[in-house]
Amino acid sequence: MENSIECAQASDIVQQDDEPPLLRKCAPDSSAASSIRQSASPTLRAMARSPQWSDWHWQLRNRIRSLAKLAELFPRLDISRDALKAAEKFPQAVTPYYASLAQTSDISDPVLRMSVPQHDELFNPPFLKDDPLAEESHMPIPGLVHRYPDRALFLVTSACPVYCRHCTRKRVTGERESKISAARLQHTVEYLTAHPEIKDVVVSGGDPLTMSDSAIEAIIEALRSVPSVEIIRIGTRTPVTLPFRITDELVARLRKYHPIWINTHFNHPCEITPESTEACRRLADAGFPLGNQSVLLKGVNDDATVMETLLRGLVRIRVRPYYLFQCDLVAGVEHFRTPLSKGIEIMNHLRGRLSGIAIPTFVVDLPDGCGKVPVLPEYVVSKSPTETVFRNGAGVRAGYPEPVVRDAAATGRRNVEYSKSAKGGRKSRRQRACTAC
Ligand SMILES: *Cc1c(COP(=O)(O)O)cnc(C)c1O
Ligand code: SF4
Repeated sequence: MENSIECAQASDIVQQDDEPPLLRKCAPDSSAASSIRQSASPTLRAMARSPQWSDWHWQLRNRIRSLAKLAELFPRLDISRDALKAAEKFPQAVTPYYASLAQTSDISDPVLRMSVPQHDELFNPPFLKDDPLAEESHMPIPGLVHRYPDRALFLVTSACPVYCRHCTRKRVTGERESKISAARLQHTVEYLTAHPEIKDVVVSGGDPLTMSDSAIEAIIEALRSVPSVEIIRIGTRTPVTLPFRITDELVARLRKYHPIWINTHFNHPCEITPESTEACRRLADAGFPLGNQSVLLKGVNDDATVMETLLRGLVRIRVRPYYLFQCDLVAGVEHFRTPLSKGIEIMNHLRGRLSGIAIPTFVVDLPDGCGKVPVLPEYVVSKSPTETVFRNGAGVRAGYPEPVVRDAAATGRRNVEYSKSAKGGRKSRRQRACTAC
């Protein structure tokens, strides 16, 4: 990182006019040997050739932890006084690997937009909160959020390889990088044992895989000792931010405790690289079902073509898109928020065009801990007692009749008539005629 920096602009990739603007920031073949080769930072390109590059400890030790350092690597970044204030207000760190994925050296690059403090973070409308999901008030014991009857969210560390600027849990992450104590783990086991209705524990943070193999194993082993815990999920962004963390040793230790599901957090196709592909391959080969939770972010992935490319890429690397989140109302993210209609428009684009396994559920995690609700494009055009009329993604209409009820006592007049007329080969026509009367 000390090396002098030259000609970063010249390394920007050539833009092609027929690609949507956000995709232009990506290596054209989304292959990441080329992502790093095409990195906007010559310093990072040089560092990527060193043997330690793929050592995850080295990556963590060499995280870029100041805006000044970032500006050295990417000279077109803004280091205004407000950007510096934002860096003080919310934790900042980025691994050399993740930074190396940037293809342009200014904030329009999706990787930099997600990881570099910006003056916009200081804009603070009153509905943005430090804890928008009221997690703190749903913790029966410290670090365990028990909001849904059968699931609990277990926060085991405050550290992450990269502090995402859009993070919902900024109140937890980064301030003091710390992990759970043995005593707290014991309390959690006691709580879970006393609450056998909890079948599914989501291990999160921070990023749990910033911890050592033995610390992670101690947590998973403790959770597995509770007979009522059926599923363990690990939420980790390391396949994206620190793919070298997914070592054979870690995988071998964790697979003993199956079923463990892993949810990761890819937001843009340029994060799908040979390195992240290899991390996912190791996990999938060891039997961890992989899911992805993206956040819809303005200027990063709020574009139907970018989203489509991301989702197709994820399925190719055996990651099932799980959720697409509307941005939570967390302090410092107003510049990332999109209108709800944008997510709906993107979902409408996807349905019918992409394989069902590539389509996530678009959800809003409601303020004040009211939980997640799915949001769908409006497919229902009209409803009557006998038929619902839909439109498909392409706008074509089709009716679906209600089941015919033969028991007159249990039904209204319309439905009885409907059952009389619903005979013979012209059934659906007649049903529709009946609906119209
Ligand atoms: C999101 C969340 C979960 C997991 O919810 P799923 O919809 O099952 O993925 C569990 N607990 C809390 C507090 C959550 O916010
Ligand atoms: S990796 Fe997850 S927890 Fe960590 S900063 Fe990013 S979004 Fe937040």
